[in-house]
Amino acid sequence: MRTLLALLCLLLASTLIGCAASPAHGKLSALSLATTHDWKACRHGVPDSVCVQCHPNRAKAYKDRGDWCPEHSVPESQCLKCHPDLDFSPPKAPPKGADVSEIVKAGEALPALEPHVVPGRITVFDFYAAWCTACRKLDTYLYTRIAQGLQVSIRKINIVDWDSKVSEQWLANVPELPYVIIYGKRG
Ligand SMILES: [Zn+2]
Ligand SMILES: [Zn+2]
Repeated sequence: MRTLLALLCLLLASTLIGCAASPAHGKLSALSLATTHDWKACRHGVPDSVCVQCHPNRAKAYKDRGDWCPEHSVPESQCLKCHPDLDFSPPKAPPKGADVSEIVKAGEALPALEPHVVPGRITVFDFYAAWCTACRKLDTYLYTRIAQGLQVSIRKINIVDWDSKVSEQWLANVPELPYVIIYGKRG
């Protein structure tokens, strides 16, 4: 347990640049994610199926969602000037047999964590969003460790964005994603 915590802290502190809420910008959304991992980039470096510079008629859907960078006139979730590390690939699946489930699928309220704690196991509550590149790095790390035999249960909480019910409830004082709460084997 202590090793896992130390590794997580090290990972979060040194490897990851978190996904912060940025009030001066639009909202990042999952609208710019490709549907497959083998997506091809257009000349703007964005999946050619979703690029708004290639398909200007798609702009409205992003603006309606609040996903728009006014400074660069592209969706926030496609603005590589503001977010050079954007990852357009869809989220990775966990390794076979891993105990990973999503307890909040679309930002809905989450009254308490305790009912979701898995008795006798380390339970990692992972607050994430599909557009959060740093969250992907955490997934990759945890899934690799699980494939190597790490015994943890992961309960994922999809916040969708910083204005969702679950964000208001749990992340009022949290500046960046990913954010994890870990319960030890004895709760
Ligand atoms: Zn393009
Ligand atoms: Zn921008």
